[in-house]
Amino acid sequence: MTEIPKSHPRYASLVARERVAEGVKRGYTSSQGLIAQGRGECFDYLIGERTTSSAKSAIRAAAAMLLLARRPALSVNGNVAALVSREMAALAAALKIPLEVNLFHRSEERVKKIADLLREKGAAEVLGERPDASVPGLDHARALATRGGIFDADVVLIPLEDGDRCEALVAMGKKVIAIDLNPLSRTARKATVSIVDNIIRAVPHLTDEVTRLRSMPRADLEKMVNEYDNEKVLRQAVQEIQDHLNRQSQQDTR
Ligand code: ATP
Repeated sequence: MTEIPKSHPRYASLVARERVAEGVKRGYTSSQGLIAQGRGECFDYLIGERTTSSAKSAIRAAAAMLLLARRPALSVNGNVAALVSREMAALAAALKIPLEVNLFHRSEERVKKIADLLREKGAAEVLGERPDASVPGLDHARALATRGGIFDADVVLIPLEDGDRCEALVAMGKKVIAIDLNPLSRTARKATVSIVDNIIRAVPHLTDEVTRLRSMPRADLEKMVNEYDNEKVLRQAVQEIQDHLNRQSQQDTR
């Protein structure tokens, strides 16, 4: 990977970009993944490259929802693998569940490369190499899922996902947790809980919340989930972008 000096003002963003480019070079991220990363960078810039208070509430609700789930599942695609494979393995370990590889541009070779990478980074069990079910309403490759994993799950975490798949999973009656920097994307609008944050910051934060909330009484977790209002959180996320831009333009005119 290209050496980036730690003192560079855009260090974290450039490292992430390098990781996705490396994923493409090694064949586990698709070239379209670079475009998704660019779009994410743009929104991260607009929110100020920090975990906002709306994202913190979404992360808390997501952790409670995952802990309450009868059968939670965690989906991994090429960008997620490039950016946070170790961190996704840690989240799966905290919840004692497998990870499942699920690709928009599916090829068996890419699925295997991602599954191998996740195992190398500590994942105990990785599903997705032998899908045996289809999510209704999606075309063949994107619909593939695994029984005992995403297909039967009641709560699914889908980071960096497209709107169609999010909608199809919601239509199956699942609670869907999205991680997406764009608060206006179809995914963010359709999900049950939308975490508007960079996946690099969001996943470790989510694992910490799972660990912190684990010992809480079920009734308290249920209250947290019931009181959560995703529409309100998305409105707050858009407002946080506006506030950040206002602060920036005031600084520029000083
Ligand atoms: P939709 O169908 O939901 O409207 P889209 O067509 O914008 O989505 P893609 O182009 O597949 O979907 O992009 C995936 C989404 O992931 C984008 O909204 C982008 O902002 C977001 N994204 C990209 N990189 C990151 C990241 N590092 N962290 C969080 N979100 C990201």
